[in-house]
Amino acid sequence: MTHLGKPCVVFDVDGTLAEFDAGKLGHLVHGLEKQWDEFHDVMADAPLIAPVAKLLRRLKDSGETIVICSGRPAGWAEHTKAWLRKHDLPFDGIYLRAEDQDRASDPEVKRRALAEMKADGLAPWLVIDDRSSVVEAWRAEGLVCLQCAPGDF
Ligand SMILES: [Mg+2]
Repeated sequence: MTHLGKPCVVFDVDGTLAEFDAGKLGHLVHGLEKQWDEFHDVMADAPLIAPVAKLLRRLKDSGETIVICSGRPAGWAEHTKAWLRKHDLPFDGIYLRAEDQDRASDPEVKRRALAEMKADGLAPWLVIDDRSSVVEAWRAEGLVCLQCAPGDF
């Protein structure tokens, strides 16, 4: 039986919805050993990237299904959900770095998340992300990805 899935739009968090200075904070999360507590402490106060937030809300208001997908770890999910709530960003699903993926690259994390979305009956038709290597991964999976910032880090 063919199962088409529920159409949805996927939004990344850091550098897409939340201001993220890769030059200042990248060392906490882009190496093999991650310092997630320190990262989440800093990102709790991250300003919203207003145009992307506006796009998310307009899509939601028009009836779109919104999925958040971040390389942040699932074990710290409450921090990310709290930030989204604080900024009034509605979402229908959230996919984060799996427990066994702490050393995985961001593109690997997002490829796994996409497979999980599909297994959950979701059919992403558009992705908003900032990091070039991740944008390439989404596109390699056949998706249209709008890159919202230079993302060369
Ligand atoms: Mg990002």
